[in-house]
Amino acid sequence: MQVIDPATEDVITDVPLATEEEADTAIAKARKAFPAWRDTAPGDRARLLRRFAEAVDGDLENLARLEVRNSGHTIGNARWEAGNVRDVLHYYAAAPERLLGQQIPVAGGLDVTFHEPLGVVGLIVPWNFPMPIAGWGLAPALAAGNTVVLKPAELTPLTALRLAELARDAGIPEGVFQVVAGAGPVVGQRFVTHPDVRKVVFTGSTAVGKQVMAGCAEQVKRVTLELGGKSANIVFADADLEKAAATAPYGVFDNAGQDCCARSRILVQDTVYDRFLELLEPAVRNLVVGDPGDEKSEMGPLISAEHREKVASYLDDAEVAIRGSAPDGPGFWFPPTVVTKPGERLLTEEVFGPVVAVVPFRDEADAVRIANDTTFGLSGSIWTRDVGRALRVSRAVEAGNLSVNSHSSVRYWTPFGGFKQSGLGRELGPDALHAFTDVKNVFISTEE
Ligand code: NAD
Repeated sequence: MQVIDPATEDVITDVPLATEEEADTAIAKARKAFPAWRDTAPGDRARLLRRFAEAVDGDLENLARLEVRNSGHTIGNARWEAGNVRDVLHYYAAAPERLLGQQIPVAGGLDVTFHEPLGVVGLIVPWNFPMPIAGWGLAPALAAGNTVVLKPAELTPLTALRLAELARDAGIPEGVFQVVAGAGPVVGQRFVTHPDVRKVVFTGSTAVGKQVMAGCAEQVKRVTLELGGKSANIVFADADLEKAAATAPYGVFDNAGQDCCARSRILVQDTVYDRFLELLEPAVRNLVVGDPGDEKSEMGPLISAEHREKVASYLDDAEVAIRGSAPDGPGFWFPPTVVTKPGERLLTEEVFGPVVAVVPFRDEADAVRIANDTTFGLSGSIWTRDVGRALRVSRAVEAGNLSVNSHSSVRYWTPFGGFKQSGLGRELGPDALHAFTDVKNVFISTEE
């Protein structure tokens, strides 16, 4: 498959797409590597993961530049993403030596629990954040003693392939972490149907996630799903309006809106609605959209021509209030766009592009009702100076990751995942490790 630079439309390279047989070969290798990796002394497994993290750190600029070319991410974002892989590897490198079981008081003996690794774990990664999403799966999976096969998205395989090289250089044994570039319905689907893959972690669209979950059900295969979103950024009249308006573009247009946590609905209390739009306008117009390799750029292109067409279709029945800039000419550019009269599709579907709807609300109850009027439940922001309101609304909004007076969604120390049709299970944070283990209980009789 040709890999295209979305900022220039140049062909970067060709990457062969694996066949089903090649996926089977990788899974067989991962299965063969599993017992030795599971039985590696915890301290040695930790040391290897730290070395992997250091190899990523040593290659950080190269990884970031590769992502700029393959995905059109701004260089600032791409450096953060490569750094996130390093940090997640370091964080979970502490885990093999702390994977503690319990000793449970019982009658007639001793009872202990073990957190056993599952075996081969299949990671299916989307194109919008190829590096971090790979890291969130592979680091805890490897730390818990599993072996991993990873399928990057067809459009963005390059950084994942580089991570596999870095793992090998760091001394991660053969077969423990493999990247299999290939088509979703071939390689991804094989992870779902192959009986030796004991868990699938799927990040991508809700439609494909449902198929993956149904397929996994056939074998009662463990599954984590990180799916789409339609998150709300709720701005109350008592908020720091200047700050809320100045930061709102970053909450939705980051990564050109191709972000599952994009706050693609800005809900503004009606008494400050006009003032908020006045403040939002310069923030949107001043957003620097251009060459993602340029340090000054704040937004790059969309991933493909096909995706740009899909994003544009959401404006067919909408009234545009503010339109930012975008370069002409080659590249899949789309200007940051603010809509005040959105059509139904724009209000309910995930656009996955730089388009945001600004919607007025009356009071707290109205804000919560609109925020929850979606099948998704991934993320969201609440802007207010009233601590009580911040907490009440945080508890009432049906979403997995909320931030107050901030648009931050991802911190590797804290759990990340969706309510409702945004997903199943949690990644990151101290508990993610348990998503890659099964609890085994052992009772030892002490009776004579
Ligand atoms: P997608 O569903 O088209 O593809 C995701 C991955 O699944 C790709 O690797 C693809 O090749 C593979 N795939 C496709 N068909 C498959 C099949 N039948 N069986 C198994 N695998 C298959 O999604 P996308 O367009 O690459 O990514 C965008 C979507 O991802 C958005 O909806 C976004 O919200 C979501 N996303 C969610 C999170 C999160 O953490 N919740 C993070 C990033 C992206």
